[in-house]
Amino acid sequence: MSAEATNPEAHPEVRPELRRRGRTRLDLRRLGRAALLGPTSRDRLPDAIGHVAEAHRAHHPDADLSVLRRAYLLAETSHRGQMRKSGEPYITHPLAVTLILAELGAETTTLTASLLHDTVEDTDVTLDQVGEEFGDEVRFIVDGVTKVEKIDYGAAAEPETFRKMLVATGNDVRVMSIKLADRLHNMRTLGVMRPEKQARIAKVTRDVLIPLAERLGVQALKTELEDLVFAILHPEEYERTRALISAHAGERDPLPAIADSVRTVLRDAGITAEVQVRPRHFVSVHRIALKRGELRGSDFGRILVQVGENADCYAVLGEMHTCFTPVVSEFKDFIAAPKFNLYQSLHTAVATPEGYVAEVIVRTRQMHRVAEAGVVALGNPYTTGTPPEAAADCDEERVDPTRPGWLSRLLDWQESAPDPDTFWSVLRAELAQDREITVFRADGGTLGLPAGASCIDAAYAQHGEAAHGCIGARVNGRLTSLSSPLSDGDTVQLLLAHDASSGPAAEWLDHARTPAARIAISSWLQAHPDLAMATTSAARAPLSVVGARGDGGNAVADLPDATVRLAGCCTPVPPDAVAGFVVRGGAVTVHRVQCAAVARMRAVGRTSVAVHWRATADCRVTLLAESFGRPHLLADLTEAIAREGVEVVSATVEPPVEQRVRHTYTLQLPDATGLTALMRAMRDVPGVYDVSRA
Ligand code: MN
Repeated sequence: MSAEATNPEAHPEVRPELRRRGRTRLDLRRLGRAALLGPTSRDRLPDAIGHVAEAHRAHHPDADLSVLRRAYLLAETSHRGQMRKSGEPYITHPLAVTLILAELGAETTTLTASLLHDTVEDTDVTLDQVGEEFGDEVRFIVDGVTKVEKIDYGAAAEPETFRKMLVATGNDVRVMSIKLADRLHNMRTLGVMRPEKQARIAKVTRDVLIPLAERLGVQALKTELEDLVFAILHPEEYERTRALISAHAGERDPLPAIADSVRTVLRDAGITAEVQVRPRHFVSVHRIALKRGELRGSDFGRILVQVGENADCYAVLGEMHTCFTPVVSEFKDFIAAPKFNLYQSLHTAVATPEGYVAEVIVRTRQMHRVAEAGVVALGNPYTTGTPPEAAADCDEERVDPTRPGWLSRLLDWQESAPDPDTFWSVLRAELAQDREITVFRADGGTLGLPAGASCIDAAYAQHGEAAHGCIGARVNGRLTSLSSPLSDGDTVQLLLAHDASSGPAAEWLDHARTPAARIAISSWLQAHPDLAMATTSAARAPLSVVGARGDGGNAVADLPDATVRLAGCCTPVPPDAVAGFVVRGGAVTVHRVQCAAVARMRAVGRTSVAVHWRATADCRVTLLAESFGRPHLLADLTEAIAREGVEVVSATVEPPVEQRVRHTYTLQLPDATGLTALMRAMRDVPGVYDVSRA
């Protein structure tokens, strides 16, 4: 198959993903071609770099272009005389890579480094020279890309290769952006390579680069890479898909008419929106063919609705679900529950009277930009200032979109991976995860974990190697086994043994999903072959007794030397009237006298023990806040709590039911007298309609 035939660029009618701001895929292709011609003399210089400059200006009208011209000049003169395997002048490669990034909205520093990305590796230009002429930041990025390139095409085995690649790029997502664009251009021009080499490069692209593009949210690069890999690794399916698409091109497409009725509905509702039909890329058509069996005319594209404000997205959805027949199972809200990679949109599908099912995506223009370009468009990770809209949610993973949580985790555990093969297998498993969950730590803060993670994963994520001593966990206040899977929004408290001799059981590996946990457990088991069996039972045995925390606060029981603890069911605080009951093991559990447990125990003939509060009282209390769901509610509530000088021990957020959400907070007050003021402050938070004691 020729390179041209495998190149989706040859089918601009089905490659609209890069269409933005009125610039079509055809324009991009023409610009790319013009850039590829390269300069033959200095007179041609403005032409070659002009296309990059134009694309850059479209996103950054105030950008300083002189630095790009200087970088181009250095790259062009130093690469002069070098040829690509295709026979084109070498400079066409950095130019094409830079054009890809400029089209995605990358900032000037990234583009400067991208123009120079192969100079240090392949020419006489030194890193110091780059630093002197373009500054430390450009030097740093070029250095990172150079290391990656060396690794990428070196003789080393793939696992070690990628491990090094991550280390080289990990400090700066801009290095990865350049690496991705570099790979895209190399994939586009792969036709000149031997078939075995094409397949090898395509496999690495499939296993590593595409998941990375997905993780970094760079949809535009991801879809094109997917199609290029598809063509190389699955030529027959690719051909079949291509035949389906060409056959469809000759038929009446129902989507424009559906888009028209959507426009009418939205106009009548007074909602300003842009409605487009977006054809699917090859791999997407292939996937939908597998899903639907037989393809219908409406399956070759999607309807994209772009609006101005987040709230408009839901207004559009309301109209869609009212005026058309929604396919409810297809509805997904990636605005309220965003994916790990910054992506936000509403997805739904509607059925038309003719029996077509049209998929509809609703998002704001800003969400669209982030969906297409991901971290590439988010710019300099070192700039402080107003974060991009999509990064403004309180979710911890989003605070620094250029250093996402998953990336930090990869970098942390790559250091402790015992060998490249382990690293490689867990890395691929990690990249194959398509969802993350957020759990709350009982001591405040959150943990981002892959879906399906267990308490064991949480333990290693929170405590590192100290998690070897983990003996149990509470999830949402309830004692549970370490193997329990966690759900989004759970509050997890991990109970660690104080004696350092205990270690993980081999069975933990059955319940550990994260690389950090798996690597740490395997290493420990390998280092302690004699203890591995013994600790299996020892580690599990204490689970039944770890409920006791000896944490009686300021309650004193009228029973010498008794351990006192406050009941979890009613969380008594001073000056509540309380009663204690001796439980198994001799400890005294303290309940509020109104607690149902007290009545129950008395009913079965248990006698209570007198309990009083110590005079100086700091106290713990559990409050329920009932609210109407809205963005930033959790942040506003915890801030109100903090302003009262109260510490949050744990927080649980239940999923919204009919717009209402319930937050449960366990709080540590310096003084019980502050409780009334605290509850008032929480009630004053907009959206909150009730705050009560649990
Ligand atoms: Mn390159």
